[in-house]
Amino acid sequence: NVRVRFCPSPTGNPHVGLVRTALFNWAFARHHGGTLVFRIEDTDAARDSEESYEQLLDSMRWLGFDWDEGPEIGGPHAPYRQSQRMDLYKDVARKLLDGGYAYYCYCSATELDARREAARAAGKPSGYDGHCRALTDEQIATYRTEDREPIVRFRMPDEAITFTDLVRGELTFTPENVPDYGIVRANGAPLYTLVNPVDDALMEITHVLRGEDLLSSTPRQIALYKALIELGVAKSVPAFGHLPYVMGEGNKKLSKRDPQSSLNLYRERGFLPEGLLNYLSLLGWSLSADQDVFSIDEMVAAFDIKDVVPNPARFDLKKCEAINADHIRRLDVKAFAEACGPWLKAPHAPWAPEDFDQTKWEAIAPYAQTRLTVLSDITQNVDFLFLNEPAEDEASWNKAMKEGSDALLRTARAKLETADWTSAESLKSAVLAAGEEHGLKLGKAQAPVRVAVTGRTVGLPLFESLEVLGREKTLSRIDAALA
Ligand code: GLU
Repeated sequence: NVRVRFCPSPTGNPHVGLVRTALFNWAFARHHGGTLVFRIEDTDAARDSEESYEQLLDSMRWLGFDWDEGPEIGGPHAPYRQSQRMDLYKDVARKLLDGGYAYYCYCSATELDARREAARAAGKPSGYDGHCRALTDEQIATYRTEDREPIVRFRMPDEAITFTDLVRGELTFTPENVPDYGIVRANGAPLYTLVNPVDDALMEITHVLRGEDLLSSTPRQIALYKALIELGVAKSVPAFGHLPYVMGEGNKKLSKRDPQSSLNLYRERGFLPEGLLNYLSLLGWSLSADQDVFSIDEMVAAFDIKDVVPNPARFDLKKCEAINADHIRRLDVKAFAEACGPWLKAPHAPWAPEDFDQTKWEAIAPYAQTRLTVLSDITQNVDFLFLNEPAEDEASWNKAMKEGSDALLRTARAKLETADWTSAESLKSAVLAAGEEHGLKLGKAQAPVRVAVTGRTVGLPLFESLEVLGREKTLSRIDAALA
């Protein structure tokens, strides 16, 4: 039975790298009919926040993820917040100490620094040198009288550690590169290095899929796992798969501070969860060489961790937008109209709530659906329908209203007045005919009409827009532009 976990720390806002990790774990679990455990790694009181925790849950739900065990829903290994599991970690730390798998290290930060510098200068490995591995009782007694507060350090085995990464294949880490490491702070607080693998063991995780940045902690965790198995705390070592880095601008790793990496931004701009997830799935994986756009169900059906590639993936906002646009096109028009809901009201909408007209919205929605990249663009595209007067956009006005525009508008108005207002075709013929009288092609002739009526030079198909807006309002806006 496949058991995977998604175990973020609740610090700051969720970012796209985190979402990609969640997605791959979720898809892996669903593909194999396995279990997704959602665990909150909140052992760093200084950085973790309740607000961030709430946001994480809210984001996961917005994305459409579900979990089988975790916060709010519980499960056989509850609680799923590490801050509520401290006694478990203390118990395991005690067992590791008693079994000789870990030891107290009394070295002060200054001493460690000095020895690290010396090792570097001598061209030797600069990790922890094993100073406190085998202290005598006397040495310990001395340190105690000096009031030194020891940390707990895990004793790495002296042989190399080899494992087969699900993405990268066989990897070997030699002991010089993996020194003994701290698992409990001097103040008794357990560290990530302990709590993460201990929980993976207790929660019987079978596959650890996570970012490449955590690759260096894997040999340590495997060694710790082996100790936990000997102590009867763990049953077996999970398989590990490290997902490739995501690169941002200038071929640098996409960082949490990068504005492009904030999940909230995508929500606010009106990305569809399906569109965003589709794009994020391509960061390291692909469905097939010739298909970039697919549904989440298609992804789940096809997802195999063995198809994930180790080389870094480049985050491409333009492509992300294009894929989102494709997902907007794929919606049923009713679903599209509904998805736009938030952007048709305050605080996004500049019109008074009572001026919104559902019938007009449903009439224009199909034209918007084929054009939008992100849902938040809907507000600008339809505001001409619900505002009493068109938005004032000076740049558009200056661009479209040239010498002769007034004459053209007058002719167009006269022809529109007698046109058939149940047909966008008829409205187009009216403007086309007006243009011909002034020696203007349709594109040039419709520009002043568009600006007079909608306030902008670009927007939804003009004649359909006029039809939905209606005869009276169209004519009075042209009059206002001529006044
Ligand atoms: N809480 C860790 C993080 O957010 C989880 C790392 C892991 O997946 O092992 O980086």
